[in-house]
Amino acid sequence: MILPITVYGNPVLRKVSQEITPDYPGLKQLIDDMFETMYKSEGVGLAAPQINKNIRLIVIDASPFADDDPELKDFKLVIINPTIIERSGPDELFNEGCLSLPTIREDVNRPTKIKIRYVDENFTEHIEEWTGIKARVAQHEYDHIEGKLFIDHISPLRRKLISGKLNAISKNKIKPDYRIILNKK
Ligand code: ZN
Repeated sequence: MILPITVYGNPVLRKVSQEITPDYPGLKQLIDDMFETMYKSEGVGLAAPQINKNIRLIVIDASPFADDDPELKDFKLVIINPTIIERSGPDELFNEGCLSLPTIREDVNRPTKIKIRYVDENFTEHIEEWTGIKARVAQHEYDHIEGKLFIDHISPLRRKLISGKLNAISKNKIKPDYRIILNKK
């Protein structure tokens, strides 16, 4: 089932999300629905707050970037209860977009390397080191479950320049071509 997406202005995007246990109701279906929703809206990652749930659950499929890096062909995974335990390497700018910030794209500075601990859909623990686009996508999605958005990383000047667009999104004046949850007045 395709789920509607929360957009800027919805308080669910600003809360720190909670960990879940294997008995979380309907977890398998929820994961399937999140992948389906992500594919339908042409995203490469989706975090639970974006489908209106404050839980530490992320789905990623970065295979659309496989032209840039063949390793990404198989970078499809479910990340539950993650902690980024280390960020390192030089920072790098990369142009980011977000289903919760339709019409906005900005160059965002982030570390190029991370060490992350998480459990997968079977609650098997993984500790991984990722660089490049893997680290980029994971950090963007991790921000969501920490109540952050990529616009929090841009300069005050850039933020000012997009304030009109942000205002329009929060007031339901932007209609992307995927279903969204309208913000309350
Ligand atoms: Zn996002």
